[in-house]
Amino acid sequence: MQWPLPAILATLLVPVLVVIVVVLLMALRRARAARREVEIVAREDKEASTRRFRRLEQDLHFLVDFFRIFARLLGEMHAERQVRMIPHALLRAVVEIFGPEVATVLVRRGSPSGSGSSKPEELPRLSVVALHSTRGSLRKGMEFQFGEGQAGMVAERQQVMVRRDFEEDQVAIYQRSQVTVEPKYDIIAPMVAGGETLGVLAISRPDRHHDSERDVLEMIARVGALTWKNVQAYRDKEVEAEVDKLTRIFNKGALLRRLGLALHEARQTGVKTSIFMFDLDNFKVYNDTNGHLAGDRLLTQLAQLVKETVRADDVFGRFGGEEFLLVMPNRNSAQALTVAGTIRKRIEEYPFEGGETQPLGRVTISGGVACFPDDAAEQVELMQAADNALYKAKGDGRNQVQRADESGLNPIETQ
Ligand code: GH3
Ligand code: MG
Ligand code: MG
Repeated sequence: MQWPLPAILATLLVPVLVVIVVVLLMALRRARAARREVEIVAREDKEASTRRFRRLEQDLHFLVDFFRIFARLLGEMHAERQVRMIPHALLRAVVEIFGPEVATVLVRRGSPSGSGSSKPEELPRLSVVALHSTRGSLRKGMEFQFGEGQAGMVAERQQVMVRRDFEEDQVAIYQRSQVTVEPKYDIIAPMVAGGETLGVLAISRPDRHHDSERDVLEMIARVGALTWKNVQAYRDKEVEAEVDKLTRIFNKGALLRRLGLALHEARQTGVKTSIFMFDLDNFKVYNDTNGHLAGDRLLTQLAQLVKETVRADDVFGRFGGEEFLLVMPNRNSAQALTVAGTIRKRIEEYPFEGGETQPLGRVTISGGVACFPDDAAEQVELMQAADNALYKAKGDGRNQVQRADESGLNPIETQ
């Protein structure tokens, strides 16, 4: 039987058509699925970029805040010029920048490294000097050894440590468990300057995190330590500039400045202020007999002896050579004369080496007392008045104190 051509074509066409339809349907489904997939990916991408953008925005705010507060902190730390205020300035800045639950500033106590001491009782410690805490059992004044607890570890290692380190490092895990008063810190940064740990900054802020916060705390700690060293060095130089190199008491410049201040104060308050100027008797003889070095030793010993005698608000210094000046705020002439007499007597009685060969058989001084405003209204005249009285004491036989008096005839302080 012969198939007619149209029947053959129709029989072939049906399956081909079916196949084409199926393929088309599948392609359509694929295309739909692909479109859906593209849509999902696009949506996810958008959410991810929004999240990333928010995070960047937060980081930016955090850093802008940091720079603003950090600039102020630098100003504060330098302006204070008092080392002990620096931890408080650091704490204020850290609290403002991080908004932490706990922020602690611990400062090194005990002998500095390199001082050569290795006795166990002199091991360096960390003391809590500034603390911001909304809870917990940490208190100001608490002390920890270097190497002990989280803060102690950071002090000893001189490395920033974060919460993860205390959860992963075996030694850190142990140390953290040992000091239970410490909060679980998130970041701890050492304050290191010149290879020495001066302290530690630690914060706990479990709920909030920024990428840069570890670096930021490290930078604050580092700059804090350097500023600390600088301020300390500046203060040391200031103190040193006022001290006489031989006797370690005030030098002439410091004496004049402080006398000026005391007189200014006396003018403001209307109280009297007295001065006592004295000079070693026959010191040339002492040098000639015992040598210049022994003379230096005598000056140093005498300075310390007098320093122990005077009051805390008195100003005592070496005016030059073997001449000394004592400024006594809030003391009238009679009171000053009593103090001067006590000093003269103490020196006379002190067994200075080589005193027996002095012309008076011992080391002695002669001095003059003058009182503001009774004897003079100005600084230069006041000193002149005391010097005149001293000169008179010398002329009248030495080892005595005289009171300034315009007439030149004057009661003498005696034994
Ligand atoms: P007077 O009782 O009149 O004060 O007699 P003096 O010998 O103490 O007085 P003079 O002014 O003649 O001598 C002061 C001496 O003090 C001379 C100087 O060499 C000595 N002198 C000054 N400064 C120092 C010092 O820093 N060290 C030593 N060893 N001697 C000093
Ligand atoms: Mg003399
Ligand atoms: Mg002299």
